[in-house]
Amino acid sequence: MTGNSDDAPAGRPSQAEAEDAVRVLLRWAGEDPAREGLHDTPRRVARSYDEFYRGYAEDPAEMLKRTFAEVDDYDEIVLLRDIRFESHCEHHMVPIIGRAHVAYLPRRRVVGISKLARVVDVYARRLQIQERLTAQIANTINDVLQPHGVAVILEAGHQCMTTRGVHRPGVSMVTSRMLGVFRDNSDTRKELLSMLGRPSAATPFD
Ligand SMILES: [Zn+2]
Repeated sequence: MTGNSDDAPAGRPSQAEAEDAVRVLLRWAGEDPAREGLHDTPRRVARSYDEFYRGYAEDPAEMLKRTFAEVDDYDEIVLLRDIRFESHCEHHMVPIIGRAHVAYLPRRRVVGISKLARVVDVYARRLQIQERLTAQIANTINDVLQPHGVAVILEAGHQCMTTRGVHRPGVSMVTSRMLGVFRDNSDTRKELLSMLGRPSAATPFD
């Protein structure tokens, strides 16, 4: 996805077009794109987009395909907590920064924990609303691993609330999606919440 105008996929603008669009936005902000300090800015912004929105080019289901069956009948909750993620809201294209907690109750097969974090990243690196991001992560894990249950909880600060509009710093939004036993069995859900309730070493997100 490193935008070279020659290898742009059909329908995707060339890097030159993307840079021109940034020059328009610089003028919209009141700047002179020809000013020396801004000379490389359009190129840098276009490159940043490759990173911020890399998730469009990646397939999250593919990441979960390699599983391990030999787990000695492990049948307890697997929880990966405090996965930092960076996304962008689809309404203002400004950052959503937060933490994800991802749990599942395996049915015979488990997956490498780094893969769970990768699934969070793939969906985060797209334009999002937090509710959909939460559901996509949970649904993908559920569809591919077919575990007894999946729980995904996201806590995030939205810069469209903190740096513009209502200017409410320190506010975080919490969303969750519970599937299978986490939705249907209150004991399993309680066990998860008590695991999450233990003190966390994570620092608050910026
Ligand atoms: Zn927004």
